[in-house]
Amino acid sequence: MSTVREPARELKVIENVDVVVAGGGPAGIAAAAASARHGCKVLLLERYGFLGGLATGGLMGPLFGYGFGRTGLILGGIPVEIVRRLQKMNAAPPEAELGGWNSIRFDPESLKHVSDALVLESGVKLLLHAWVVEVVRSGDAIDAVIIESKSGRQAVKAKMFIDATGDGDVANFCGCKYTKGRAPDGRMQSMGTKFKIGGVDMKKAMANLAEEKKRVNQAIDEKRIPAYHSFNGEISEQGVTLRSNEITPTVTRCPGDATNVYDLTRAEVNIRRDTLAIVDFYRQNIPGYENCYLMETPAVVGVRETRQIVGLDILTGTDVLNNRKRPADTIARGCWFIDIHCPLGLYCGKSNLCDKNCQIKPDCHMKTKHRDQLYDTLYQNNYPCEDNWYDIPYGCLVPQSMDNLLVTGRCLSADHGGMASARVIATCFALGEAAGTAAALSLADNKLPRDLPVAKVQENLRQVGVPL
Ligand SMILES: Cc1cc2nc3c(=O)[nH]c(=O)nc-3n(C[C@H](O)[C@H](O)[C@H](O)COP(=O)(O)OP(=O)(O)OC[C@H]3O[C@@H](n4cnc5c(N)ncnc54)[C@H](O)[C@@H]3O)c2cc1C
Repeated sequence: MSTVREPARELKVIENVDVVVAGGGPAGIAAAAASARHGCKVLLLERYGFLGGLATGGLMGPLFGYGFGRTGLILGGIPVEIVRRLQKMNAAPPEAELGGWNSIRFDPESLKHVSDALVLESGVKLLLHAWVVEVVRSGDAIDAVIIESKSGRQAVKAKMFIDATGDGDVANFCGCKYTKGRAPDGRMQSMGTKFKIGGVDMKKAMANLAEEKKRVNQAIDEKRIPAYHSFNGEISEQGVTLRSNEITPTVTRCPGDATNVYDLTRAEVNIRRDTLAIVDFYRQNIPGYENCYLMETPAVVGVRETRQIVGLDILTGTDVLNNRKRPADTIARGCWFIDIHCPLGLYCGKSNLCDKNCQIKPDCHMKTKHRDQLYDTLYQNNYPCEDNWYDIPYGCLVPQSMDNLLVTGRCLSADHGGMASARVIATCFALGEAAGTAAALSLADNKLPRDLPVAKVQENLRQVGVPL
């Protein structure tokens, strides 16, 4: 492979702020709002033309992580404020229909508007269409991030940086240590997307669920449709949205490393192709779908797992299974189960997740050589007990090596099992609020994030209603 040398050039510094947040997904919007509400001058940088990350651009839903089983609501602060703002737009169910906050249907398009309002009303300055592509360091501190946009290559300076890119891009540019995927082979959860189907006769579909299940599972096993059978029901059940004749199922997947542009391209094209085949199959074979049509594929392929930045602490799958409480260290709570989609991108009509219950043939090396590293099946104890949650320690947001960088959202410091639980949207909102608060307190107290007393972060989060 040949190489070329980039010409060295002086870059214009277009902003000089207290806190730069890179990435405007669930974690980034909460981080930016929290820092700004503590009086910091904040700049939020987002590569796309909208906020909300995968929660909006990925046509996501429902919101997971607010509660599980009998826990009731385990979060407060910005994550709950976001639901309240959605409710005001009729974009989330009213209070009486929230039940145990287990799974909150919402309208992703409205979340774009809520995200704009949340950050702008908090005083955040926003730059959309701005990719963070590099950092400029002075020793162990970031001096500036380099962005690329239609305005060219420019620099943005700040005292503190928060990496909310999902992929840990900023930390990676700094050379921070990271892990990827499961321990034996580094394979990460497969990519996947939701897509929106319209024209569904939901009443008829729900009355024929058993038939749907039979026909779909048979077609999957016979390799007639490139879909996996989801643990929580057929397309008709698990794709439910706020609208009566629309659904957004999660049944496609493609393996690969989403930090590799070739793998990303393959995933986009293959999943789009598979989506069309699934919708065609449903139209021709499933009662209630006779007049259905593909309304929309997402703006961007869904990435479940890439880099986990190694921090001062680590969230593990064992912590999740044991509902581990860390009263002295906690800055957020998680409650979702260990939700690992087959890193090989495989499926059969009987299993959905990478766990001991997997029935995909032939057996992969995880089953033949590393079975001890697989989690029990979802239907047994592959998640926190139904009336409980686990604590996420502050050290999961503090990279081991940099002085003025915090990471948040799904790139937190966690192992393959820990991230598989903490990656859901509400947990990322909560992690973002914690990171934004910590960044602001570090600046106010003139301390490095690693030296900040966790009790101080906890005290500030409790003041805005975060239960810790
Ligand atoms: C197929 C699929 C289905 C899912 N279903 C659900 C579900 O039903 N419920 C649920 O709660 N969760 C679900 N999730 C998980 C959830 O959507 C994500 O894990 C969550 O959105 C992660 O939030 P985040 O803020 O950490 O990252 P992201 O949502 O990925 O946001 C990162 C943001 O950073 C921006 N960015 C990235 N790199 C750069 C850069 N270099 N410069 C500037 N900006 C950058 C991105 O454009 C994006 O806006 C699903 C995920 C997938 C893939």
